[in-house]
Amino acid sequence: MTPDVRDRLDRPPRVYADTAQPASSPVPESAWRRAVQLISQTDDIALACHVSPDGDALGSMLAVGFVLRSMGKRVAASFGDQDFTVPRLLRFVPGQEMLVPPADYPAEPDLMITFDSPSIGRLGLLGESVRQAHQLIVIDHHPSNDGFGTLDLIDPGAPATAILAEQLIYRLGGTLDRDIATCLYAGLVTDTGSFRHSSTTPAAHEMAARLVATGLHPDEIARELWDRSPFGYLKVLAAALDRVVLDDGLVWTYVTRVDRAAQGLPYSELEGLIDVVRRTDEAEVAAVLKEDDQGAWQVSTRSKGRVDVAAVCAALGGGGHHNAAGFTSHDSVEETVAKFRELLREA
Ligand code: 5GP
Ligand code: MN
Repeated sequence: MTPDVRDRLDRPPRVYADTAQPASSPVPESAWRRAVQLISQTDDIALACHVSPDGDALGSMLAVGFVLRSMGKRVAASFGDQDFTVPRLLRFVPGQEMLVPPADYPAEPDLMITFDSPSIGRLGLLGESVRQAHQLIVIDHHPSNDGFGTLDLIDPGAPATAILAEQLIYRLGGTLDRDIATCLYAGLVTDTGSFRHSSTTPAAHEMAARLVATGLHPDEIARELWDRSPFGYLKVLAAALDRVVLDDGLVWTYVTRVDRAAQGLPYSELEGLIDVVRRTDEAEVAAVLKEDDQGAWQVSTRSKGRVDVAAVCAALGGGGHHNAAGFTSHDSVEETVAKFRELLREA
C-alpha cells in the first residue's frame, strides 16, 4: 500500500461537510447556545436516561458522554432502575464504562442532563438527583414532556432523542467516530423501528447516512437488537401466542414472571414481543402485559394510527407516543385489560 492510500484510509470521514449537517430543529438557537455554555463551564456532568433503557435512551446518553469526556469533563451516566443491569440486547452499545449505579450517582449534580425521559417519574431512583440538580438540561422528543428542566431541548417532531443528541454534539464541536455513531444509530433505529414507523423523516435517513459513513456495522447492530435471543424466548413466545386474544379491534396477551422463570428469561428479553402481536390485520391496537420482577404489569401498547395510545396510557398513569405507549398496572391481568379497553372505547 502506498503511503498516499494509507493516508486516505486513516483520515476520519468528513461527517460535517457543508451539505451534511444536522437538520434544523424547533429548539431555538439561543437554547442550544445556553446548553453549550452550561456544559463548557462545568467540570462534572451527570447524565441520566429513563428506567428500563431502550436503545434511544442509552445510546443518546452515552454518545453525548463520549463527547463530554473528550472535552475533559468527568462524566457519570446512569438510569434509575432497582435492578441496575443493561439489557442483553444493548450490551453492544459502546461507552458503558461511563455507567455508575444509582447508589453512586451524584446526589446534587452541578449540571445534570436527562435523555429520552418525558417526566421526573420515568427517571426512577434518580428523581431526587433531578430535584437537587443546580442546572438541569432536558433532551427529549416525547410530546407529553412539559419541560421539567432549567433548560429544555425538546422536539416532539423528532423521531428519536438521538436526533437531538447529535445536534448537541454538533454544536459542541464534537466529531462522529464509530463509537459515538454506534450509540446514536442504536437510538435512531430503535425509535424509528428501522425506518419503518410513520415518525421516520428525511432527517432520520440523512443522519443514518452520516452515522454509517463512520464505518459502523448496521448488520451487526440489527442482529443484536432484533434478530437473536436465548432459546427460552421461543418457549415464552409460544406460551404468550397460545393465549393471545383478539376482541373488537384489540389484540392482546401477557407473560407472567412464572413463564419467564421457567425459561430463566430476564424481563428485558420481552421487548420484541409486541412487534409480533401488533402485526394482526384485524386489530387496530395491540397490547402486551409483561410482569416484571417486582410483580407489577408493564404494559406495552401500539396503535396503527387511528387511536392515540399515548392519551389512553396517560389516563392510566403512563405515557409515550401516539402510536407507541405504555403504562404500569398493579391490578390483575383481567382488570388491567378491562380498564384499558374501556378507555379505548371512549377514545
Ligand atoms: P415500550 O412499549 O417500547 O416499552 O414503550 C413505548 C413507549 O411508551 C416509549 O416511548 C416509552 O417511553 C413509553 N412508555 C412505556 N411504558 C411507560 C410508562 O410506564 N410510563 C410512561 N410515561 N411511558 C411509558
Ligand atoms: Mn425515544
